[in-house]
Amino acid sequence: MPMALANKIAAGEVVQRPASVVKELIENALDAGASTVHVVVRKAGSELIQVTDDGCGMNPDDAERCFQRHATSKIRTARDLERIHTLGFRGEALASVSSVAQVELKTARRGDDAGTRVRIDGGDEPIVEPAAPMAGTSVAVRNLFYNVPARRSFLKSPQTELGHILDTVQVMALANPGVAFRVEHDGHELLDVPVAGQRGLEAVARRTEQMFSFGAADGFTRVEEKTSYLAVRGLLGSPDEVRKTRGYQYLFVNGRHVSHRYLEHAVLSAYEYLVPDGTYPFFALFLDIDPRHVDVNVHPQKAEVKFDDERGVYGMLKAVVGRALGMSYRTPDEKSADQSAGLNLDLGRFGFEDPGSSGENAPGGKAPSRFDRGRLREPRGDWSGRLSRTLYEGESLERDAAGEDPSSLLASDATADRVEPREDISEEELLWQLHDAWILTQIRSGLIIIDQQAAHERVLYEKALHALEDGFGLSQQLLFPRTIEFTASDLELLKELLPDLRSLGFDVEPFGGRSVVVRGVPADIRAGDERSVLDGIVDQYREFERVERLEGRENLARSVARKSAIKAGTRLTHAEMRSLIDQLFQCSRPYVGPGGKPTIVKLSVDELRRRFDRKR
Ligand code: ADP
Ligand code: MG
Repeated sequence: MPMALANKIAAGEVVQRPASVVKELIENALDAGASTVHVVVRKAGSELIQVTDDGCGMNPDDAERCFQRHATSKIRTARDLERIHTLGFRGEALASVSSVAQVELKTARRGDDAGTRVRIDGGDEPIVEPAAPMAGTSVAVRNLFYNVPARRSFLKSPQTELGHILDTVQVMALANPGVAFRVEHDGHELLDVPVAGQRGLEAVARRTEQMFSFGAADGFTRVEEKTSYLAVRGLLGSPDEVRKTRGYQYLFVNGRHVSHRYLEHAVLSAYEYLVPDGTYPFFALFLDIDPRHVDVNVHPQKAEVKFDDERGVYGMLKAVVGRALGMSYRTPDEKSADQSAGLNLDLGRFGFEDPGSSGENAPGGKAPSRFDRGRLREPRGDWSGRLSRTLYEGESLERDAAGEDPSSLLASDATADRVEPREDISEEELLWQLHDAWILTQIRSGLIIIDQQAAHERVLYEKALHALEDGFGLSQQLLFPRTIEFTASDLELLKELLPDLRSLGFDVEPFGGRSVVVRGVPADIRAGDERSVLDGIVDQYREFERVERLEGRENLARSVARKSAIKAGTRLTHAEMRSLIDQLFQCSRPYVGPGGKPTIVKLSVDELRRRFDRKR
């Protein structure tokens, strides 16, 4: 294959848009040890992208050679590949860029008498000339894709492309607070951040402050932990400053920005009870790991990495973040507070030692409810009649308890007939919501407590299974169809699930590249969540796959239930409680959640008597 053609093909992978050029050029500047990086862009990068650095520079030979494919100064032996510390390593970037643009490189090492200028047009032979001395390197890329019209026409609007460029610079600036960055577009300065400090989290905090409107440096929770396998350090944004998109979540592995849905999920799940569903906190986390345990060579733009122990990394990240958040968002008072007060949200597994005080007191514990009340409001049929048939008589309770509920808490007992529930109280008074998480109601033989989240998950899970079987789930069309970009692997998963997702009521289609367009979602999805729920389901599916080894429709139904159910912390009206109970008892297995945990706990009159030490 002629070299120019090979480069053009490689360019298709490495250089997708102006921002990819910016990324590669800045990486080279950083690898060269620059302490200032100056980016000049014209016409959102389609006319000019120029990156100037004050790094080590090149001698004339290297300057000529660096455009050859696989010309890298960073990897010499196969062993080097196992311990990559630089950002570049494939020697592909400059060769690729120069095959799809007109490139001019000027470079000199500090103290050289003269510099070198190399010009190369769309993969032609380079023209090398001496140039004025300088300290560092400047690469100008003009008329990107001028010789690949298809790709040029594929570019999005200038605002979008410029947005990508800025995102790219911000990510690199965040990871390199010791380097000053400047970006200019069509003569306007868009970013100018001086050196924020050499190393350490304080430098990162200052850099974050320099760049973003949110997050005063003292509002961040610091994370710094280390095991023999992995070191994690970084900043966690306050749960009070969440946003609606994932845009401000930064994960770096050995200094390289990566998108890793699974690990992002680990961080988010540690925030789980602190932030409302469908909102995302800021975080910037730097993972350092022996390069032998991580493969950075799985993605053309090096945006994805693979760990040899992904589950281990997930677990550690979640625990470390949970612990840090636990220390930040609970005062010493709360820690010693009465263990029985507040919600027990099982925060222990995230490293919160004391689950007792989390619900009421944690900031965000009282998160605004995004649950669409309309959807549960219409009770179907006579709930109290059904409830009495099901519970008062204790019949199906016994059947179910014997068959399914190992705790046998629900078994009816001999006292069932001895205490008559009061007939004179209204339905409303019979239902009571405790701590916005449990529904309490009286039954003939005592009291039942329904876990609203588990109950709703059971309802949605069975609905999903039916929809998957019938191939017909109700769909609501979105007013504004949404495109979501997935990682390559998530996209593959999504494609696999597509027929089933359609059965559930998702109107989804691949949309070119790694994005899909969502036009409709199942009718049960909560209002406000329509746009984010699909990513959530894919994340959840992956997690169930890895953690519980669930597959296919079972996994999908459970993921949908988990992602769309009302959560603990959601206040319900009486009508909603009624409707939930009604729907729960229409299920084939109302007493257990989809994962096997109980939905209902019963406290019998007998047990109450025993507890109060009464003989009658
Ligand atoms: P890679 O970064 O994978 O090595 P590139 O094609 O990006 O491949 O760059 C090729 C080589 O050119 C690098 O290995 C480096 O030696 C040299 N180089 C590129 N940009 C710079 C720069 N800004 N300063 C110094 N050397 C550079
Ligand atoms: Mg490079």
